[in-house]
Amino acid sequence: MGASRGALRLGVADLLRHPGRRRDETLEALLEDLRVLGSEVARRQPAHLEVRLESVNEAVVVRGTASVPWVGECRRCLGPVTGTLSAPILEIYETHPTEGETQPLQGELIDLEPVAREAVLLGLPLAPLCRDDCAGLCPRCGADRNQSPCDCSTDVVDARWSALDDLRLDD
Ligand SMILES: [Zn+2]
Ligand SMILES: [Zn+2]
Repeated sequence: MGASRGALRLGVADLLRHPGRRRDETLEALLEDLRVLGSEVARRQPAHLEVRLESVNEAVVVRGTASVPWVGECRRCLGPVTGTLSAPILEIYETHPTEGETQPLQGELIDLEPVAREAVLLGLPLAPLCRDDCAGLCPRCGADRNQSPCDCSTDVVDARWSALDDLRLDD
């Protein structure tokens, strides 16, 4: 979405000229098309970033969090699940970055977008639950056991439990 392009690009000339200086920033931007197997960032919901920038030698250290609403599918009952994740950000920007470890300074600008996207991607739940005690779907008839218990035999579940018991015995 064009409106958010560059929303996470910040000028840091003041910091680079004054080692030790700090600056706090609160930012909002759309981080679109971020998804993992069980969830994705909610559409048209901006991410909220709270970061502290600190000038250290020739580099800028960024510390803070990126928060964003997500939507997903319960791994047991396949119903919708929503939540808000808060992902930690810790990054160093320097003129000559180390591949895979630090980020490039773009002249006197830093771009938080790739860092925020990576943090949020790592924070998305892979196998969310609609609630801790979700009863899930019956493996036989597909009934949602949260809504109504079905009359199917519980053999399948029993088999799973006994497999677990075997594992424990092997320990
Ligand atoms: Zn569920
Ligand atoms: Zn059933």
